[in-house]
Amino acid sequence: MSNKILPLDEALYAYLLSVSLRESNLLERLREETARDPMSRMQSAPEQGQFMALLVRLIGARKCLEIGVFTGYSAIWVAQALPADGRLIACDTSEKWTAIARRYWEEAGIADRIRLHLGPAMETLDDLLDTGEAGRFDFAFIDADKGNYLNYYERTLQLLRPGGLIVIDNTLWSGDVADPEKQDDDTVAIRILNEFIHRDDRVEMSLLPVADGLTLVLKK
Ligand code: SAM
Ligand code: CA
Repeated sequence: MSNKILPLDEALYAYLLSVSLRESNLLERLREETARDPMSRMQSAPEQGQFMALLVRLIGARKCLEIGVFTGYSAIWVAQALPADGRLIACDTSEKWTAIARRYWEEAGIADRIRLHLGPAMETLDDLLDTGEAGRFDFAFIDADKGNYLNYYERTLQLLRPGGLIVIDNTLWSGDVADPEKQDDDTVAIRILNEFIHRDDRVEMSLLPVADGLTLVLKK
């Protein structure tokens, strides 16, 4: 099969951003602050944040879930795309990183739309299911520990309404998923999830070569 994907070199990426990115000054400052953290590479790309905000608006989402907050960058894009009474349930284990997130959420005026659950996301998802939240979510972004990706996917699918959308990040994992030499736990977990979703007839799906690979999953 011939490859019809346009390679994105530095110049073309800069051009893409120059004619499409609508990032606020606040989000830009959050990226600059996060860049000083040794784990800053975990932050979503700006055009990806903007794309997810578009998806949230497109499906008219009101209730969203984020698994993996870090310093709150993707959460801001999503929360700003919600109506004023919309909700984002945000899951993370890190006090340190989410303290930065909270500071920017306050400044952006969207802190009241976001409920941060500090603790292992599996516990939060199980609590949501136990408290009758199945079928109530419109949109979810999965972007935390890769070893749990399949577990997150299964639980998130239960939490979603039919017609709801899951966005899963890093599904191309820097290309490692296509390299048989790479057998580390994270790469294997992402491969398992990719193959599982491909066969899953409960959903419509598409894997986009956006940033590090973005899988869109629509619950039937
Ligand atoms: N979505 C964020 C963004 O765009 O800026 C990036 C999230 S970062 C890739 C992954 C996050 O998952 C980290 O902040 C980490 O603390 C969190 N995390 C790791 N293991 C977790 C777990 N078991 N439950 C909840 N969060 C976890
Ligand atoms: Ca990610």
